[in-house]
Amino acid sequence: MGRRLLFLGPPGAGKGTQAVRLARAIGVPHISTGAMLRQAVADGTELGRQAEAIMTAGDLVPDELMIALVADRLGQDDAACGYLLDGFPRNVHQAAALDSAIGEGALEAVVLLDVAEDELVARLLQRARQEGRADDNEDTIRRRLHVYREETAPLVGYPEHRVEVIGIDGAGTVDAVFSRIVASLAESR
Ligand code: ADP
Repeated sequence: MGRRLLFLGPPGAGKGTQAVRLARAIGVPHISTGAMLRQAVADGTELGRQAEAIMTAGDLVPDELMIALVADRLGQDDAACGYLLDGFPRNVHQAAALDSAIGEGALEAVVLLDVAEDELVARLLQRARQEGRADDNEDTIRRRLHVYREETAPLVGYPEHRVEVIGIDGAGTVDAVFSRIVASLAESR
């Protein structure tokens, strides 16, 4: 069965980690706009050149670039039987664009990962030390959390009347959180 899922949650909540695992488990592509942008930067494409400084500052890459990128990705063959979206939409405008691209109510569920802000900052600083991601320094982390609160968090209420929002406690080990996600999705079907 095709499944269309969306992962939502603040930076550092573990979206990427959990999304990769879940996508593999249910056999759908993991579509991460953050990963696509980092790849574009690494490849030195036109998109990468436009996005690099914005990402390093912790701001959002312009909607029209992101909407075109995601529309193109969703149109590829492997997305025909479902996908797990991670990192898009990030504001109300992107959410409206997604609705018109896939049709209102086309998402099966939104998985919302919830983690306390102190814990988010601690995790992101830890990742900064381990992976050296350019946007994991302290100023950028604060900026990304602010952008999430202002622009992305309001989306949690936005799809509620037509898409089930499954809240998941993101505290604890990767395995513990993954088990919670799988159990909640099984219940929701
Ligand atoms: P995180 O969830 O840890 O903030 P992501 O990997 O999802 O990280 O995104 C990293 C950066 O890529 C964001 O801070 C932003 O600059 C850019 N980005 C990713 N997705 C989008 C999007 N949908 N719209 C605008 N910018 C985006």
